[in-house]
Parts: sequence; structure tokens; C-alpha cells
Amino acid sequence: MIPVRGYAARSATAPLAPFDFRCRDPGPKDVLIDILYCGICHSDLHLVRNDWGRSIYPMVPGHEIVGRIVEKGKRVRRFKKGDLAAVGCFVDSCRKCSNCKDGLQQYCTDGLVLTYNSYEKDGKTVTRGGYSTKIVVDEDYVLKVPPKLPLERVAPLLCAGITTYSPLRYWKIGKGHKVGVLGLGGLGHMAVKFASAFGAKVTVLSGSPSKQRDAKRMGAADFALTRNAEKMKTLSNHFDFIIDTVSAGHDLDFYLGLLRTNGVMICVGLPSGEEQLSPFNLVLGRRSIAGSLIGGLPETQEMLDYCGRHNITADVEVIPIQQVNQAYERMLKSDVRYRFVIDLASLK
Ligand code: NAP
Ligand code: ZN
Ligand code: ZN
Repeated sequence: MIPVRGYAARSATAPLAPFDFRCRDPGPKDVLIDILYCGICHSDLHLVRNDWGRSIYPMVPGHEIVGRIVEKGKRVRRFKKGDLAAVGCFVDSCRKCSNCKDGLQQYCTDGLVLTYNSYEKDGKTVTRGGYSTKIVVDEDYVLKVPPKLPLERVAPLLCAGITTYSPLRYWKIGKGHKVGVLGLGGLGHMAVKFASAFGAKVTVLSGSPSKQRDAKRMGAADFALTRNAEKMKTLSNHFDFIIDTVSAGHDLDFYLGLLRTNGVMICVGLPSGEEQLSPFNLVLGRRSIAGSLIGGLPETQEMLDYCGRHNITADVEVIPIQQVNQAYERMLKSDVRYRFVIDLASLK
């Protein structure tokens, strides 16, 4: 077993604190990754605080991982020692169900192993994530990092990036589409970058007036402050798609009214409360509401390669791990520009 240093939540109310543990020795198909950077996703915060009611403690969060391979098993073919490597939200799956066969591992129906807060294939070892110095992963679930991009800005692509790239591709969003991005945080800012790179006309719908200039810089054509009733009125029946990235309860009915006929509201945000919505807002205008979960391995690699070719990365604030609890408080206040990323050198 390999000694690892990390930060863990020991309960839903305890701050994250140092936590040493051990991970398995690399098997024949495993790589041992020395973690360089790990992004902080709002899902980490939801899970640490048990917002979704399925948290396992102590919990070492983190699923936006970039690092370097320091050891590999005998049968590893795709990587060699010294290579950069990335790990996203899951580290294994059943490999047999139709979703796994189609490269949609995130929808595996028979044993998705999440990067943390999950059980390994043995059914009893709890997985631990990237707020730590090392991780062992089967090479089949490790992504290649495109060359020349700053690694701290690549880490958030592993969740925030793929979670927004995947629905934009699935719904073939691009030129000629008007897209609203609701919430300009980690996911939202990547949605703006991708949707505008794909040719769509993007409007950011935000509660934070101070984010307006950044939204434009990221490629948005317009910015609407959601509490500006006059402005919002001009956007009713306007959008072909809205990507909803909001992390807390909000008025879905109101935002459905911003969709034009046949418009689709794509939910990626996962607030913990029950959302209300009236069928009238779907029926009038033949609107739909849909959801999307991260992305599968082939599409995640495609997204990383796309980012490499088009020089797309996240806007980040790099922090030492000792500041993780303050980062959580800022994230809760929507004060994130636009992803906190932990520099794991602070733990070594
Ligand atoms: P984040 O960085 O905290 O951004 C969320 C943004 O939502 C905030 O910056 C804020 O933007 C807006 N917001 C927050 N509270 C709000 C409120 N009460 N009312 C209206 N708007 C509010 O979070 P994230 O990491 O992007 O994650 C967003 C959500 O997606 C989380 O629920 C997370 O669990 C979920 N998620 C889902 C997937 C998936 O696969 N579907 C993957 C990753 C994360 P403004 O300042 O612009 O208003
Ligand atoms: Zn995430
Ligand atoms: Zn499966």
C-alpha cells in the first residue's frame, strides 16, 4: 500500500483538514499518478456538506485531476513513466453494459466507480479523490493531457469542461443558435467559452453584475443581470437553448419562459432541493427540459484535444490546499473567478 497525504472532510459540518491514508499498489493495468493540480468543483462542496444525502466520511474530494505518471503496471500500454495524465469524475465502470460499450461510461448502469465517495470494484474500499498527493487508476480510465497548455488551467476541464462540452455537442449547438448560460461559475464559464467557440450567440444570465466584463471577454455577446426585470423581459421567448449551471434552488418556470418555441433547457446544475415547474411552461411553446451528466471517456479525450487545438482553458485562481475551506465559502457566495484549483505542491 502506498502512503498518501490528503485533505478530508470527517463529517458534513467539519472543515476539511489534513488526512493521511494509503492507496493500493498499482496492479498490472494501473498507473500511479503524482497529482500536480486538482480543481474544486461545486459538487465537492455538495458532497462534503452531504447536500445529496449519500456522503461517505472521511471524504477526500476532488475529480479534476492533472498529474504525472510515476509508476506503471506491467501491462500498461498507453502511458509511460513521466507522462502527464488526467483523471475526471470516474475511475472505473462495469465495461459491459450498453452505455459502457457506447463510450458513455458516465451512464453505466452496473457499477460506475466514482473518483471519490464511491466504492472500488471490491465493494468495500472507499475511493479517494484529488485533494491528495497521489492516485492509482486503471490506465483505461486515464486521459491524455494535450501538450503546451498550462496544467493548472487544464484541471477544471476534467469536470467543468466536459460537463458543458458534452451537451453542447449532443444538441449540436453552434452557428445560428441563441444560447443562454445561467450562472457564471466553473461550469458556466466553460459553457460560455465552448458555445461561443462553436459559433453560438451566447448571453450570460447572472446574479453577479461584477462578472459582466469577464463574460464578454470569454466570448459572450450579451450579459443579463437576472434581477433586472426590464432586461429579462426583452429575453422572453428568446433562446434556443439554456444551459442551467446554477448550484442552488431557483425559479425554473421563470427561465423556461425565456425559451422560444421548441427551445430546450439543459440542466447540468444539481441543487439539492426539489425544483418546481409548471407543465404550462413546457406545453406553451413545445419546450423541453433535459439533463446531462459529465461525459464519457472518448468524448472527454475529444474535448481535451479540442482545447489543445483551440487553446481553450479554464480561468483559475490557484490556491494552496490550506485555503480550501475559504475557497468553499467564496464559492457558496458565487465569488469564484472562475475555478479554484489546488496546487498540490502545498501538501508535499
Ligand atoms: P459554481 O462554480 O459555484 O457556479 C455556480 C454559479 O451559479 C454561481 O457562480 C452563480 O453564478 C450561480 N448561483 C449560485 N447560487 C445561485 C442562486 N442561489 N441563484 C442563482 N444563481 C446562483 O458551481 P459549479 O462547479 O459550476 O457547479 C454548478 C452546479 O453543477 C453544481 O450544482 C454542481 O454540483 C453541478 N455539477 C453537475 C455536473 C453534471 O455532470 N451535471 C458536473 C459538475 C457539477 P452567478 O454569479 O453568475 O449568478
Ligand atoms: Zn465536478
Ligand atoms: Zn457499464
